[in-house]
Amino acid sequence: MKLKYYGTAAAEGIPGLFCGCELCRYAREHGGRDIRTRSQAAVDGRLLIDFPPDTLMHTICGGLDLNEVHSCIITHSHSDHLYAADLEMRRKGFAHPSGDRPFTFYSSPKASESIRDIINKYDLEKQNRVLLKVIEPYRPYTIEGYTVVALEANHDPNSGPYFYIISDGKSSMIYGNDTGYFPQKAWEYLEREKIVFGFVSLDCTGMDMKGMVNWHMSLDTAAKVKERLISTGCADQSTIWCVHHFSHNGGLTHAKLEEAAGRYGFIVSYDGLEVEF
Ligand SMILES: [Zn+2]
Ligand SMILES: [Zn+2]
Ligand SMILES: [Zn+2]
Repeated sequence: MKLKYYGTAAAEGIPGLFCGCELCRYAREHGGRDIRTRSQAAVDGRLLIDFPPDTLMHTICGGLDLNEVHSCIITHSHSDHLYAADLEMRRKGFAHPSGDRPFTFYSSPKASESIRDIINKYDLEKQNRVLLKVIEPYRPYTIEGYTVVALEANHDPNSGPYFYIISDGKSSMIYGNDTGYFPQKAWEYLEREKIVFGFVSLDCTGMDMKGMVNWHMSLDTAAKVKERLISTGCADQSTIWCVHHFSHNGGLTHAKLEEAAGRYGFIVSYDGLEVEF
């Protein structure tokens, strides 16, 4: 499997829209890997994860082609992960998609609400343009040929937060952002299933700040998740560990973040990074 990150920032982006902090100024000046858009990724170019307001930018600059992608799993309803207003752009007359497959969203009941509103407002289901499937946690679903299991995340409960296990029969991955240290029920599932993951992508909103445990994580907490996954038997020597979803408030440039994350055995994602496992 291959995961490509199109965006790796938390809600504000780096540089933040209105921000004049030192890191945001540095990013504006230097560009490159210090520019981070809102979080989005795709598995093998087929299964999209999240639909942020920067999706348009990812189709323009990131190589994302939504004529080729028909399924999107949503982590939760916060606007940096789900910008449902843009679905109007798939209405008849607004888009001339190649092929007749609808674009289907999979999400928690809570996160589905804003998608449902837009679908109803513009009749997108009847037009066969956008479909919505609500998924329950801890149950396997087949999506685009992958087995996808949603686990509940430690994050704003009003946003219906999930993180995901995605498997293709040969390898498996965890994709989590906006999780905090995993909740007990998620650990029970992981301990029961004992899947060995080839790739683990964890929230690191706080970069190298210390002790960020609830709703989001910092490197030290992500390292605790890593240790526990290893002791649970969910990883081996070949597991690739990666951090993403960074806030400018963490203050580190990509180079400095690589130094800090390297001490915990994590690679640092950037917009455009592809990882094969
Ligand atoms: Zn977020
Ligand atoms: Zn800033
Ligand atoms: Zn969030």
